[in-house]
Amino acid sequence: MEVEEQLTKLKELLNEIEDIKNAVNLLSWDQQTQMPPGGANDRGYQVSTLSGLAHQKFTSPEIGQLLQDLKPYSEQVDPDSNDARLIKVCSREFEKFSRVPTDLVAEIAQVTSEAYGVWEEARSESNFSKFQPYLAKIISLRRQYAECFPYDHIYDPLLDYYEPGLKTVEVQQIFKILRSKQVEIIQAIGESQQVDDSFLKQEFDENKQWEFGVKVISQFGYDWKRGRQDKSTHPFTIRLGHGDVRITTRVFPDNVTSALFSSTHECGHALYEQGIDPALNRTPLGEGASYALHESQSRLYENLISRSRDFWIHFYPKLQETFPAQLGNIDLETFYKGINRVQPSLVRVEADEATYNLHIMVRLEMEIALMEGSLEVADLPDAWNARMQDYLGVSPPDDRLGVLQDVHWSSGYFGYFPTYALGNLIASQIWERLKIDMPDLTSQIRSGQFGELREWLRLNIHQHGMKFDPQEIVERVTGSKVDPSAYLRYLEDKYTEIYAF
Ligand code: ZN
Repeated sequence: MEVEEQLTKLKELLNEIEDIKNAVNLLSWDQQTQMPPGGANDRGYQVSTLSGLAHQKFTSPEIGQLLQDLKPYSEQVDPDSNDARLIKVCSREFEKFSRVPTDLVAEIAQVTSEAYGVWEEARSESNFSKFQPYLAKIISLRRQYAECFPYDHIYDPLLDYYEPGLKTVEVQQIFKILRSKQVEIIQAIGESQQVDDSFLKQEFDENKQWEFGVKVISQFGYDWKRGRQDKSTHPFTIRLGHGDVRITTRVFPDNVTSALFSSTHECGHALYEQGIDPALNRTPLGEGASYALHESQSRLYENLISRSRDFWIHFYPKLQETFPAQLGNIDLETFYKGINRVQPSLVRVEADEATYNLHIMVRLEMEIALMEGSLEVADLPDAWNARMQDYLGVSPPDDRLGVLQDVHWSSGYFGYFPTYALGNLIASQIWERLKIDMPDLTSQIRSGQFGELREWLRLNIHQHGMKFDPQEIVERVTGSKVDPSAYLRYLEDKYTEIYAF
């Protein structure tokens, strides 16, 4: 076969696989937004059959052969071209997938699907011992998975799954710097005059909240012709192709900002997916580069923009018009401080910006210790509670609000949590760069203009999809690797002002 022919064949096969994956995504979107509860069983089979088919197709000898044959070609052409990058990324993924035996993949899928239900029960009963044997099994399977790869640290292959190229030792170094500084900031806040946010907890009409969020993300540039928003228990973004990137949110009548911040968070993810070069569509390059980079985009829109004073200078009068009885007498400063109130708490998903990363650090330390075998699963709840006390000064009264709160471990997602914290750091690094490239960014936000910002992100980050490694993109855009200093500067500036310390 000629090179041209081989390349066409490879793309055809990859297109088919992407079609299957996007169909799985549609099933999954439906499951979380529309499906009646009775559909769960059949849906489980459908998703598992199609996912298995996509995996089988991707690891086929035919794709392996084509990638091998095309390697010389990929080394001749421009290394940044779509073709060279497609071959490079697919070869890396092919190698990764081929190392893991199919029966191990199947066993992980089977154990985690059972463990999910057990975790749900254990959590509602606050009974860790019920979940314990499943978690022990999952950890043992994750160790077996890691052993399929060469590594410096046994946690490396797990981290690499979510954040290609990132090493355990790098994350540990970053977190070490973050930890002491963040604990210091939280202590200083604790000793300062506290902020009132009681006005946020009134009755706010759900439809009006929904419409307000729609207005905001429309102004951010979310493309409704290529997307839609629905309600779900856990907000998420899902890509069904270049022309269809959907988001969800949830609305609480007694909390005026929860739905809005969920919407702006998911909009950040969606703008990333909507901004990917259409030429990469239906190939493995047609999605975001990594979990951390994705999270940097959602955090940028949720925190750096939507929790900023500049944003509210534009939007607060509109929110007051929407809820005159509740907010008419609350001035902008009081509102701004209220939505940025810091309160060390037990639950990660409810954590504020200043304490959030500490929740992640607790999980990272636990995961590493469990994988290394230096922590026994039976001792996990005590270790967890002790760390929460150390870092956040709070002690979970039970396992439901402690070690059982997150779904991730029951799904076998070890290595996932750190990407949340890294996303925060990357968002701040990008933000510093943005302020240099767009000197009037502040005044644009104050006047509700987000077009130039979105174009900058599209040009520098979004359009590339998975063409470049996440670390490479961060370095190209910000001039340095993932680094905690920009984030710490941001936290310190913001909270010394709000809490006057
Ligand atoms: Zn997110």
